[in-house]
Amino acid sequence: MKNFPLFTIVVAILCTSCDKKEKATEIATTPSEKFCIVIHGGAGTILKENMSDSLEAEYNRVLDLAVSKGYEILKNGGTSLDAVTQAIMILEDSPLFNAGKGAVFTNEGKNELDASIMDGKSKAAGSVASVTRVKNPITLARAIMEVSEHVMMVGLGAEKFAEQNGIELVDPSYFFTEKRWEGLQKAKEREKIELDHAAAINYDLLIKNQKFGTVGCVALDKKGNIAAGTSTGGMTNKRYGRVGDAPIIGAGTYADNATCGVSATGWGEFFIRNVVAYDIAAQMQYKKVTLGEAAKETIQKKVPEMGGDGGIIAIDKEGNIVMEFNTAGMYRAAIDINGKKIIEIYK
Ligand code: ASP
Repeated sequence: MKNFPLFTIVVAILCTSCDKKEKATEIATTPSEKFCIVIHGGAGTILKENMSDSLEAEYNRVLDLAVSKGYEILKNGGTSLDAVTQAIMILEDSPLFNAGKGAVFTNEGKNELDASIMDGKSKAAGSVASVTRVKNPITLARAIMEVSEHVMMVGLGAEKFAEQNGIELVDPSYFFTEKRWEGLQKAKEREKIELDHAAAINYDLLIKNQKFGTVGCVALDKKGNIAAGTSTGGMTNKRYGRVGDAPIIGAGTYADNATCGVSATGWGEFFIRNVVAYDIAAQMQYKKVTLGEAAKETIQKKVPEMGGDGGIIAIDKEGNIVMEFNTAGMYRAAIDINGKKIIEIYK
């Protein structure tokens, strides 16, 4: 008992220092209460003259719905991972975009979906490729990240994992949309004409000029955590188990709290070869350039110099938003750290 006062003092000192430590840790992981979000619905030959007013209004409505949903989650203290997942699910459920419900058709007339998600805090990642029955591939990518020991799963195995983990499965016919079916028929006609004029089969020629339409989201939450995700049906008329950049961590999706989060859309082969999403983060890390400068270098120089096209959306750790593309348009929307919303389609 005699020692009690001394014991109390020691405990009190220890607790004060614990308190300080906790506060210090909190400050380190919570640099600010800044939060923001950006989404895309694909880049490509999107021209005002090819768009009706009602279709344009519908694109704007769904982009608004998705970006606002993600923003609400962040505003209420939710995680960037939840904001990204929920925003992408809205885009996947819309037939307008080439992901989930609106996925394009393969050459064989099937829909094969790819998606990925990455957590900038832990650099954990999950990705899925070539699934045909998963309603919202982004939810499967997230489950792979959180529940499995793996980063990437493909095809039937990924679907088995989905089934075991309560991810919603649908009959492949769910993904049929008239517009995408017509798109495949047109692509095949065009291919036939082009091939009749080409001396040999040129894969570049086969997929040139085909509309993109992948969806993606990057968010920064109040705790300073960045997450990024991407989901796609790939490219119209794709063949033989082709997988694009969307499910490739570092190519179509990347997130690192120390630099930025990126989601890409475009001609996947070139985005894989240029490791686009990581290239942007790496320039920031090693060359100490800004997010805007890094994105310009990759999207306006590296990718087009090789012959590819497309764009990216990205957020850095300060909450700067970048939407960079080298095509005629990119469906996109953002709500910045001041709560300012923009929704845009054309250049
Ligand atoms: N990047 C996607 C792919 O190559 C297509 C797209 O962005 O529209 O699969």
